Amino acid sequence: MAGPVSVLPPLEHPPSRPRLTPLSLAVFPRLATAALDLVFPALCAVCEARLGPRRRDPLCGPCWDAIDRIVPPYCDRCGVPMPMREPPESSELGACPSDRGSSAGFARATLPGGGSEGAIEAPFDELEEGPPAVCSACVADGPAYDYSRSAAVYGGVLREALHRLKFGGRRALARPLADLAVEQCGPSLPDGIAAIVPVPLAGDRERERGFNQAALLAERVAQGLALPVRARWLARGRATRPQSDLPAAERSANVRGAFRAAPAVAGRHVLLVDDVLTTGATLAECARALRAAGADRIGALTVARVR
Ligand SMILES: [Zn+2]
Ligand SMILES: [Zn+2]
Repeated sequence: MAGPVSVLPPLEHPPSRPRLTPLSLAVFPRLATAALDLVFPALCAVCEARLGPRRRDPLCGPCWDAIDRIVPPYCDRCGVPMPMREPPESSELGACPSDRGSSAGFARATLPGGGSEGAIEAPFDELEEGPPAVCSACVADGPAYDYSRSAAVYGGVLREALHRLKFGGRRALARPLADLAVEQCGPSLPDGIAAIVPVPLAGDRERERGFNQAALLAERVAQGLALPVRARWLARGRATRPQSDLPAAERSANVRGAFRAAPAVAGRHVLLVDDVLTTGATLAECARALRAAGADRIGALTVARVR
């Protein structure tokens, strides 16, 4: 146990030497973490157990494993998992209300842009290949964004972790949660994304909180996907009430016209990033602003979604 500690350089070490080799750069953070863990045992940000095997700092292995990840099939437009494990309440899904049964809800989009015109209803087991599957609600009336992905179901450990990130100031949680989004959703994202754009937080709320959780997540997602972040491509145009204070039916009206997009989005493919998709009203309003400014294609990526 004393070994790793002994190789740590003293704090007053001159910054210019020794030069770190690539090997020592790779090893040093682990040694530093191990040394700090001896002094301050690292505790999980959700369950406060000691971090151990499979840890995703600051989440412990069991909490990380307990997150209910969303795996295909899901609707390409609204991201709702399909076939549904339980019938959702239509008020929770907003743009993609309760479907007409689990197997009847599939269709194959025939437009390359993810559009749904001319979609053909088909049973799921025939949809191994080809254009993405779209739920029947989206065939009838899809959300304002072109596609949507979420890493996991909002509940349990993930709900607690997002809550502690957002309201408890545990910014370090942005890292594993963004990594979760990249790991679960990155492989299915379309090509050609020009930039990641975080959903803007109202100015006064960001000042109170000190940070925008969507921006923290977006920074890390962008690293994982090797894409730039363009936070200035979308801004709040007016104050709104927190969506969480409102029933689902009032959320669209609350954010209507609340965002302004920069002219730079014209002709570009933009990926919006937020923490949670609840009704989709905020993301849809962001998409409308981007579309009005000429964005060519708009995706939505969230860590969690209400089932
Ligand atoms: Zn834990
Ligand atoms: Zn859908």
